[in-house]
Amino acid sequence: MTTGLPNANRQKSILILGAGPSGLSTALRLAQIAPHLTDRILILEKAHHPRPKLCAGGLTADAEAILQRLGLDVSEVPHVDASAAHLDFAGKGLTISPPNTHALRIIRRNEFDAWLAMKARDKGIEIREGVTVKNVVSRNDFVIVETDAETFAAQIVVGADGSNGITRRRILPNDSIHTARVLEVLAPSQPPPNSLNLGEVPKAEGVGFDIIPLCLKMNNKSLNPRYANSA
Ligand SMILES: Cc1cc2nc3c(=O)[nH]c(=O)nc-3n(C[C@H](O)[C@H](O)[C@H](O)COP(=O)(O)OP(=O)(O)OC[C@H]3O[C@@H](n4cnc5c(N)ncnc54)[C@H](O)[C@@H]3O)c2cc1C
Repeated sequence: MTTGLPNANRQKSILILGAGPSGLSTALRLAQIAPHLTDRILILEKAHHPRPKLCAGGLTADAEAILQRLGLDVSEVPHVDASAAHLDFAGKGLTISPPNTHALRIIRRNEFDAWLAMKARDKGIEIREGVTVKNVVSRNDFVIVETDAETFAAQIVVGADGSNGITRRRILPNDSIHTARVLEVLAPSQPPPNSLNLGEVPKAEGVGFDIIPLCLKMNNKSLNPRYANSA
């Protein structure tokens, strides 16, 4: 149930819902361009870092550039550089193979997100973990955010709680929830002898596969010749 205005210590200037890359980088950028706001930002996160996150872990050059502009050195996070990347969708593909640098830097999301959270905390940004946002209600001059712990009021709320998060559901109440089936495989940097040969990809430790290409490989049927005869 929506309550009245919370007491002063639960009134925040900027409330960020979700401590994934979007929420954390928004907070870091705000602290960078307006340091006086740093102690007026609060991030609410339902999980505790390091938390699992299904993801292929491929950091693009753009992502690295953004992190660099935030003054962060992502090479601090355990990673493997992939010299080439191939993306497929419905039989159409794109290969990225830059000549003098890596195509993608592969990280593990639990490690990467926890590192980013640590960097935010180092800058003085408060993150409250283990707090689940239950409702977001817009009023004339502020936004009420109800959680399983307490209720907050904020001048600005940043919804960074993921593509199926409560913010999206409040803004688009009639929109359907999108679900995909995905299998993530953490492969060793050197495949053990007699293991399933997954072609070129397992050279990068921590890489994830979407299930469709994996199934195609295992059936030895491929939309793309790159996947054929590799199982
Ligand atoms: C299978 C798969 C593979 C992918 N591979 C790649 C890839 O290789 N490279 C790439 O760049 N992107 C990849 N992505 C996309 C990438 O994972 C997302 O773009 C990224 O996670 C979005 O970050 P975010 O911070 O917006 O959301 P999230 O990472 O989802 O973070 C949202 C945070 O909000 C928290 N939260 C959610 N609900 C609440 C609530 N009610 N209250 C409090 N906290 C809440 C969650 O616990 C989470 O920590 C992949 C996605 C999938 C599904």
